[in-house]
Amino acid sequence: MTARIGSAEMLRRLVGFDTVSRNSNLAAIEFIRDYLDGFGIASRLSFDDEGRKANLFATIGPSDQPGIILSGHSDVVPVDDQHWSSDPFKLREDEGRLYGRGSADMKGFIGTALALVPDFKERATSTPIHLAFSYDEEVGCIGVNRLIEQIGMAEAKPLACVVGEPTEMKPIVGQKGLHVFRCHAHGHEAHSSRTSFGVNAVEAAAELIAGIKTISRRLRDEGPFDDGFEPPYTTLHCGTIHGGAAQNIVPASCNFTFEIRNLPGHDPALLVAEIERHAREQIEPEMHAVDPTTGFTFQPRNGLPDYEIAEDHPAVALVKRALGANAVGKVSYMTEAGLFGRAGIPTVICGPGDIAQAHKPDEFIAKEQLARCETFLLRLAESAHT
Ligand SMILES: [Zn+2]
Repeated sequence: MTARIGSAEMLRRLVGFDTVSRNSNLAAIEFIRDYLDGFGIASRLSFDDEGRKANLFATIGPSDQPGIILSGHSDVVPVDDQHWSSDPFKLREDEGRLYGRGSADMKGFIGTALALVPDFKERATSTPIHLAFSYDEEVGCIGVNRLIEQIGMAEAKPLACVVGEPTEMKPIVGQKGLHVFRCHAHGHEAHSSRTSFGVNAVEAAAELIAGIKTISRRLRDEGPFDDGFEPPYTTLHCGTIHGGAAQNIVPASCNFTFEIRNLPGHDPALLVAEIERHAREQIEPEMHAVDPTTGFTFQPRNGLPDYEIAEDHPAVALVKRALGANAVGKVSYMTEAGLFGRAGIPTVICGPGDIAQAHKPDEFIAKEQLARCETFLLRLAESAHT
């Protein structure tokens, strides 16, 4: 039998594993597996193709009954080029705050859930608690898909899933979608003194980016709007651009990436079609006049579905009861909720810490947040039981 470990101590141990997404998370997952094993709880691991990373799924209570999933990602964002006051992988306490990479996003939640395992064992006698910890969330929510597949094969369909991203313990019932695209502007090289014989790919890309900006201004001014989100409209944004070889060459190639963060119900495909139309009708004709093989190609990169759950859904009611809260919110950042939702699992995002801390140097979580999360999870296990 494993000894009890408190939430803060469990967080300290988890922060000690450098689970930056590019690294293996196996040491952390094996630590969790051994800890659960000490309570007689079996873990099922699902690995990535190289076997360097794993998801962990474990059930406390009767696995043939509908249960509650507590979902968290084990990976964290890098600390490269960030100035930290102390070692980011050594939890440091100062004035009620616990500093360390992943303390808010989201080892605080995972640590709290693990610390409460002995309590769940006592309370989850009719409604099981499932622990679902993923890898590679911070690089596009990749790992969790294998975990969700596994859950789909489970005996009983889950009642609810709580994704414990930092919401300061506020229940979140909607998130925007995220769709990333790579655009390649293909031009025609020429000496820069002979611009009329070339097709300038950098300028073509710039024109299209200006077109994307025009669309994002229209969405800002004319909607559609959903005041639950900040900002309350679908946003577009270009994040990277690379093009040109030398100042005295008309550039033949320019690549840029852009993203759409869409409100639930606002179809991103319509916006992509509008951007493509702008390229074909407004920019390419002039390019083709010089060289018909020039133009734009679009490649979808990663996409994550938007998510929304009705405020009066029983899963939301369950979470609100356990929180003793009525107000719900929506978020514009990405979580695994959309993927659980797409698999038909009613999901609410709710966890300790402030998203403003996530990904930053000197990331911290307030101990008061961990305490609130403990109370919430204990009541959740209890209220589902009755
Ligand atoms: Zn996160």
